Amino acid sequence: MGQTAKATREPHTITVDFQDETTYFQLIANGKAFVEFVLAFILSLGFQLKHQATCSGGGSLTRHSHYARVRLGGLTIWRVQCTTCKAVFTVLPHFVLRYRQMRPEVARDALLATHGGLSLEWCAVICNISPMALYRLVCAFGHHSLVTVLTQSYGAFQRAAAQQEPSYRVRGVLTDGFGSTTKCMRTLFPGARLGICLRHALLKLPKKLVAIASPVRKTLRAQFHTLLYRARQRKSLRVFALGQRLRHFADHVATTAGTTNGARVRRWFQEKKAGWYAVLEDPQMPVTSTLLDQAHNALERKLFAMKGFHHPGDSQQAFLTGLAHLYNLLPYQRRGRHAGHCGVEVEGGSVPTADWMLNLQILTSGGFR
Ligand SMILES: [Zn+2]
Repeated sequence: MGQTAKATREPHTITVDFQDETTYFQLIANGKAFVEFVLAFILSLGFQLKHQATCSGGGSLTRHSHYARVRLGGLTIWRVQCTTCKAVFTVLPHFVLRYRQMRPEVARDALLATHGGLSLEWCAVICNISPMALYRLVCAFGHHSLVTVLTQSYGAFQRAAAQQEPSYRVRGVLTDGFGSTTKCMRTLFPGARLGICLRHALLKLPKKLVAIASPVRKTLRAQFHTLLYRARQRKSLRVFALGQRLRHFADHVATTAGTTNGARVRRWFQEKKAGWYAVLEDPQMPVTSTLLDQAHNALERKLFAMKGFHHPGDSQQAFLTGLAHLYNLLPYQRRGRHAGHCGVEVEGGSVPTADWMLNLQILTSGGFR
């Protein structure tokens, strides 16, 4: 093992957008055109390649070697090399995922679904891939930190967090009632009051009312809203009033929407009322959870989901980082605020392309600086 071993260390990977697959297959037949295309792409991103520490990056690229990806049907993958520092970069076309046989389209749908709140298991049912494969995919993206283009956005968050009062203690926590979250909160903040978000209660009620006409369901929801609102208003007696009112409301559901619905709502009240009392007993408790709480809950659910998954070389850190990349890069839905823009853009950062999946591939490919 001499000088050569040192020079040919692990190559960096860069994902390059070749627009469509045909372009890629035409270009791999022509070395000069291939390198020019890759250079033009890097230039268009405004990124630099990860050269050796001593290299200014001013040298040119040359085609270095190629190999076939057997699992991808013998697809030819080229490597390029810096003529100055000899750093090697594997050029991965946009239609291939790093180390994966899965097509980006399949990954895109499954990642979108899991980001939208669907469990890994349900995503797997819908997208026809195994839950484990999806879990490993998220981990794979998490193994690579995004290039510095995102530092700006993370910086803004960091500053906001630093401005918080250092002596801050948690006195009350709102959850949506998810068991795992509640347990964690009890352990982490032993003295804190644990409440259940009243907004979630309003959102949940219509789902408890099965097989009835929509106007009846809407009316019941409005009445339930009024009930919670009034309980909140009457400061001293509101806990007592709530218990009584909930019983009356369940009876009311039974008469207007049938005894089955009435019984279901009554059981649901039994489960949740302690959490609602906790909110109403203390005027300082917020009635609904904040966006930050909701984000924490979503993360907690994902952590809960991952407990069943292990594979060689996995780490909770990688999984969480992978999820964070999704949260930062997936655009807001079309009817939401900032529709079509992702978190990074909203925070003033910029992303390489208009396609979030491609951005995820490019930014986590590892070879860009
Ligand atoms: Zn170099």
